Amino acid sequence: MTWASLKVSQQPVVIGFDLDMTLLDTRPGIAAAYRALTARTGVHVDADLAVSRLGPPLRTELSEWFPPESVEEAVRMYRLLYEEHAITPAVPLPGALVALAAVRAAGGRIVVITSKLGRLASLHLAHLDIPVDEVHGDVFAAEKASVLRSIGATAYVGDHVADMQAGVLAGVPVLGVTTGPCSAADLQAAGASLVGPDLHAFPAFLRGVISVGRPGSDD
Ligand SMILES: [Mg+2]
Repeated sequence: MTWASLKVSQQPVVIGFDLDMTLLDTRPGIAAAYRALTARTGVHVDADLAVSRLGPPLRTELSEWFPPESVEEAVRMYRLLYEEHAITPAVPLPGALVALAAVRAAGGRIVVITSKLGRLASLHLAHLDIPVDEVHGDVFAAEKASVLRSIGATAYVGDHVADMQAGVLAGVPVLGVTTGPCSAADLQAAGASLVGPDLHAFPAFLRGVISVGRPGSDD
């Protein structure tokens, strides 16, 4: 995909953001929730390992530790523990608030699209007093692409190779940030339009996205 192939300029600006390790560092709270789950069930979950590979759905991680017949109950219990243990420790990642302000300054809409349950994602955002326009939870990879299409997204921002794939599938440019588990090379290989060390890269990315295809633009 090239920048010039993307037709975005005539539409309102709608930016999709992944949540975990893109906007928020949720690792300390998630680790606490996994440790509480281990204390409750007696089933060992390596919390540090689990938070080193955030992105895929919860069931994927819990399937690494629980027998198949126990995964659904572990999911249910983890989500109860999450609310108690994982919300308050989360903090915005570098550049996150700057990025969201840039969307607002462009008159755009902010849509969070995450594999986390929408209810839990909304609790994080409310706790940190971060207003967004929409939250779409419980989606991953190609499901994120469906959301991006349905909201008429201008671009997507994420930290996981599956986020890059979602953007490519939806035909929108994607900013990859290396604040999560994936390397710049992996994000580029998965289709990132641009990769940055964190969301301080977002304002320049947004300017590029908005200028593409604008009448009279040389891009
Ligand atoms: Mg993520």
